[in-house]
Amino acid sequence: MEIPRYDVVIIGSGPGGYVCAIRAAQLGLKTACVEKDKTLGGTCLNVGCIPSKALLESSERYAATLHSLGEHGITVTGVSFDLAKMHERRKAVVGQLTGGVDLLFKKNKITRLSGLGRIDTPNADGLHRVTVTAADGTESTVETAAVVIATGSVPSDLRGITLDHERIIDSTGALELPDVPRHLVLIGAGVIGLELGSVWSRLGAKVTVLEYLDRILPGVDAEIANEAKKALEKQGLEFVLGARVEAAERQADDVVVRWRMKDDTVHEIIGDRVLVAVGRRPFTDGVGLDEVGVLKDNRGRVIIDDEFQTNVPGIFAIGDVTRGAMLAHKAEDEGIAVAEILAGGHGHVNYDAIPSIVYTHPEVAGVGKTEEELTAAGVPFVKGKFKYGPNGRAMALGETEGLVKMLAHKDTDRILGCHIVGAHAGDLIAEVAVAIEFGASSEDLARASHAHPTLSEIVREAALDCGRRALHK
Ligand code: FAD
Ligand code: NAD
Repeated sequence: MEIPRYDVVIIGSGPGGYVCAIRAAQLGLKTACVEKDKTLGGTCLNVGCIPSKALLESSERYAATLHSLGEHGITVTGVSFDLAKMHERRKAVVGQLTGGVDLLFKKNKITRLSGLGRIDTPNADGLHRVTVTAADGTESTVETAAVVIATGSVPSDLRGITLDHERIIDSTGALELPDVPRHLVLIGAGVIGLELGSVWSRLGAKVTVLEYLDRILPGVDAEIANEAKKALEKQGLEFVLGARVEAAERQADDVVVRWRMKDDTVHEIIGDRVLVAVGRRPFTDGVGLDEVGVLKDNRGRVIIDDEFQTNVPGIFAIGDVTRGAMLAHKAEDEGIAVAEILAGGHGHVNYDAIPSIVYTHPEVAGVGKTEEELTAAGVPFVKGKFKYGPNGRAMALGETEGLVKMLAHKDTDRILGCHIVGAHAGDLIAEVAVAIEFGASSEDLARASHAHPTLSEIVREAALDCGRRALHK
């Protein structure tokens, strides 16, 4: 039987893989995408970005109804929630989006290959071969000019702790809890810990966050992360910083978590659920990388060059499985770039213009360099800051807690970074990402008209403040 041939076979259908497949098909490449799970969309759509945001929205509406309506003169009594219904909604949102990827595959004539993809030794003509093992064990092989590894990531393990997926859980377990924990202990004050901790705290859980570093949200501008910490503490989250968690042991329906402080003292806390959120690691199990000689670095990330190609010609990698931020849109951008390169174009990703957002309340968002990064690199910069407090829209919204910080080059005024903590920070950061992409100066941004009254005026004021010209300060 003749072996099916493709121009490109993508392994993994997360935001990296499925977007790469669509762009490749748009550009006329004969495209197949291999996915081992039942649904398309990867971590992001199934157990990551989307379900977490669905629960963040439901829990935020509940918390806002309880705590924020009074100031508007709205009285509500007997407020309660139905957790089962929140979960149904979460699943429905996920189902709609993963089904949408199926439809996009059909529309773009992308072949979906269901099963575990493994790269095999090339055929006699030098074409790569990918073997797909379906759930029932049957194997099929396809040939292709190019392979894109988009196999994503999975939660990192923590030495000394074994997940039982009931009381000691990872992010997937924390999205599916059947009841609100009495006391949720979070290991790791990173993005996952704070987002999912917020969900359960808003629904009534006591939440204690144990973090190894002496700050929260590593990678986020330190001043902004500190403001976020204060806001989360006001909501009831408790933080223990400088705590290296070493063990978690089940005791009936509880878990005893033990950690060591920098002064070597050992402490314990008891919770009824423990979420281990200490990062994610690239996932390449069963892809056959060693067999075909694709190199990984010491953190298990597939090594690629500036054109996303591994050391084996014709084999590429994108998204969480390779270097850089583990973000869905970073994976998508790389997927588009690879497809364009494969079609003979010049795919490119500007890593200085990739925004990141933490969907807590207030939100935390950033793009470009942090103040710490610029200081460490010895880049001369000016800092413009503006608080949410004086902004008219922020007052009308009742969202006066927050800060925008703009960083621009001291000599050229080019925007180098922007960091925001406050309501809708995730939406506000978009204009700065575009400004950085266009090489704008803080003056360019400040001179652009910003509608009144909007929160975007705070971004403009921060840009004006780079030239010490803020109007409402
Ligand atoms: P993935 O989405 O991990 O997809 C990889 C796919 O490959 C999976 O479907 C997997 O089954 C498949 N696969 C693996 N090996 C094989 C194989 N051998 N054969 C066939 N298929 C295979 N990022 C954001 O930008 N914003 C957010 O709000 C956000 N929230 C998150 C919340 C949570 C709880 C988590 C866990 C992550 C979140 N992320 C968020 C991160 C985001 O999900 C990832 O950065 C993104 O999914 C990476 O995309 P990817 O395509 O590289 O890999
Ligand atoms: P993370 O790297 O953001 O945070 C992990 C935290 O755990 C760090 O602060 C680390 O210091 C701490 N830690 C490690 N070992 C520890 C120990 N023994 N004791 C105490 N603390 C310890 O990782 P994450 O929160 O698991 O998220 C993983 C990835 O998923 C992130 O890279 C992020 O990009 C992505 N993600 C993004 C979003 C978003 O964009 N909104 C949401 C969720 C996840």
